[in-house]
Amino acid sequence: MSVGQHAGAIAESPTMALNEQARLLREQGESVIHLGIGEPKNRTPPAAVEAAAAKLAGGEIKYTPTTGVPSFKKAIVEYTARNYGREVAPANVIVCDGAKQAIFNALYTLIDPGQEVILLAPYWVSYPEMVKMCGSTPVLVSAPEGSFEPRLADIERAMTSRTRVIIVNSPNNPSGAVFSASLLGELIPACEKRGIYLIMDDIYHKLVFDGAIAPSCLQFASRSIDQGNIIVVNGVAKTYGMTGFRIGWAVGPKDVVKVMANVQSQTTSCSSVLTQAGAEAALRGPQEVVEELRRTIESNRDLVVAGLAAIRGVKLIKPLGTFYCLPDFRELLGERIGSNSHQLAAFLLQKARVVTVPGKDFGVEGHLRLSYAGSADEVIEGLRRMRWALDPASSSEISFGGKSHRRDWF
Ligand code: PMP
Repeated sequence: MSVGQHAGAIAESPTMALNEQARLLREQGESVIHLGIGEPKNRTPPAAVEAAAAKLAGGEIKYTPTTGVPSFKKAIVEYTARNYGREVAPANVIVCDGAKQAIFNALYTLIDPGQEVILLAPYWVSYPEMVKMCGSTPVLVSAPEGSFEPRLADIERAMTSRTRVIIVNSPNNPSGAVFSASLLGELIPACEKRGIYLIMDDIYHKLVFDGAIAPSCLQFASRSIDQGNIIVVNGVAKTYGMTGFRIGWAVGPKDVVKVMANVQSQTTSCSSVLTQAGAEAALRGPQEVVEELRRTIESNRDLVVAGLAAIRGVKLIKPLGTFYCLPDFRELLGERIGSNSHQLAAFLLQKARVVTVPGKDFGVEGHLRLSYAGSADEVIEGLRRMRWALDPASSSEISFGGKSHRRDWF
């Protein structure tokens, strides 16, 4: 017996695989520093916990309408007005099991097999596999060397009569780049003109640094939401640190949302009533939790920037948002530490017990994605070990996990 060829060709999420590897090493008593996972360390906001617990205690734990609990959808309508200055209706909103499912649902709704979806490299690992699951072809457009922001001219060159969707993710996982208002402002009419849908993955839009506000596509749309081509995806996972609630949503043209609801009605039926209650409370509750999380992450960003600057040969474009960065190790690659990002990540895990994610999985070879969503201590320790492993100018002795280690590969 064998699985279908279509599903058999889908790769495992590399970040999920790395989490498992790190968990197993930890179980064996190894001191592992996890700079791989994109998960804030904060506790779930109390308002969200209380609302979900109250729902549970009430004992009425039933299906909800397919597109979400009406009062939660209203909270999303208000969130959209507050954050994007756009008035939308509940019929423009669909609640899904995380932003991930919202993106997949939107792709499945919009594309037919044989069509193309433009992805901007570096891109989030799940996009190409999702596009392939829909029987479509991912078309990659890379940012120019030395930048993580793609050029409009390169994107336009990739647009063909088969292009159906472009996915834009800014603030960007994995690079931490925040795309400029000028790029987004030009990209939207370019897509409108050609009838291309734009899925804006805005899951990190609140996590920006240095007092900036991330420009978002909805701000630049010249058409009404229903006449337009924009689907904005968001969720509570990153902004409120509620990854385990599995609640995200999409806001888009009514006609598109209606078909997304049909797809959802035949697959998941609806999201859990418990976690929708928690997510609604997070949106309606005190918002200081978001600023607190943002500030912690910004201060971790500064630690990462300083830590990487201390490793000779590593280049970094300073992240302006998210909790990721994508340093460039190409100058260091070679026989001793590995000649590509997969080998380098394996080397760091083996020698320094530091988990990173190979840039190759995000469409950028020679880089590693580091997450600084964890504690400051973890970030500092991870970079201390990386410096020891990678920089021959650092001391060849290091101590971690209760043992002393000697660098013997340079
Ligand atoms: N989009 C991006 C760019 C992400 O990084 C993630 C989570 N890693 C998601 C979507 C998925 O978010 P959720 O947990 O809400 O499904």
